Amino acid sequence: MAIYNFSAGPAVLPKEVLLQARAELADWHGSGMSVMEMSHRGKEYMGIHAQAEADLRELMGIPANYRVLFLQGGAHLQFSMIPLNLMRDKASADYVNTGEWSKKAIAEAKKFCAVNVVADNKDKNCSYVPVFDTWKCDPNAAYLHYTPNETIGGVEFNWIPGTGDVPLVADMSSNILSREIDVSRFGLIYAGAQKNIGPAGLTLVIVREDLLGQVAAGTPTMLDYKIHADGDSMYNTPPTFAIYMAGLVFQWLKKNGGIAAMEKTNIAKSQLLYAAIDSSNGFYNCPVNKADRSRMNVPFTLKDAALDGEFLKQADARGLLQLKGHRSVGGMRASIYNAMPLEGVQALVGFMNEFARSKA
Ligand SMILES: *Cc1c(COP(=O)(O)O)cnc(C)c1O
Repeated sequence: MAIYNFSAGPAVLPKEVLLQARAELADWHGSGMSVMEMSHRGKEYMGIHAQAEADLRELMGIPANYRVLFLQGGAHLQFSMIPLNLMRDKASADYVNTGEWSKKAIAEAKKFCAVNVVADNKDKNCSYVPVFDTWKCDPNAAYLHYTPNETIGGVEFNWIPGTGDVPLVADMSSNILSREIDVSRFGLIYAGAQKNIGPAGLTLVIVREDLLGQVAAGTPTMLDYKIHADGDSMYNTPPTFAIYMAGLVFQWLKKNGGIAAMEKTNIAKSQLLYAAIDSSNGFYNCPVNKADRSRMNVPFTLKDAALDGEFLKQADARGLLQLKGHRSVGGMRASIYNAMPLEGVQALVGFMNEFARSKA
């Protein structure tokens, strides 16, 4: 039986990547060593590290004046590193609040700077993206932070805010590499790896060079982007195996048509799933405004929540795993990242239709 893993993160990885890692696990390319055992200063690992960065730059079209940093601490540590590094001499930072992850970023930033929440979607239970015209942006803000894909709420921006000279900062943890984006529109992009990049333990930061080197006084060395940029992400020991795995994922993406091809498949996958929900005569419901529905994380509820347990049990028995919704919202959530094949979504939709019919 085929197994399809709909976990929100850590999440499904491409099968080919896992098999390649297995084949190379104990002896990487005839080196006699596992990548896990290599010095991060040795030529083998340095090559893996440089190739991963080069492939990511190619995939995303990252301009030369941006640095790529392979860090640790998860997206959560970025919630602190961003204000510590980007406030410079400014009085406040702008934040958009579109759900759970925005809220966490805002709460942490408040420890380091004055936060101006320029827009939120609380009036409709965090189910939509507030239109840009309504945002109360400060032209003197140090930066504007937003969450292009709310992993828990399933709300995704299908546009990029235009902030002029104010650097745009984006938490792309759950939709990086899933759609084409113009990196030059951003001051800083960050993402925990465990959704669409690779295993947990690696955090990716892409930052415009002119924003480096103005860290707040007293900031720990490890939290200064410039230290990591100057050290090519090897100021301290980087998460070598996670970077190696991310590199394999980047090569897999390149082999499979790059981000443009992924985006096409992601559109097809998400449309198929939303169509099943919307055509179920209310048996299933997705609370998110149609235009702002995530292509990566699809939350939905059953009309009768008493059937949740049975739905999950039957799904499990068919190899459709980890569909339980986030504890804060309940119901179901299907995360359909790049590595989820179309067949997985087809299998899920087939099961959902059958389950609904069996309860009619
Ligand atoms: C998962 C997630 C995070 C948290 O990532 P950690 O690596 O666990 O810190 C933050 N933001 C978004 C949008 C996420 O999806």
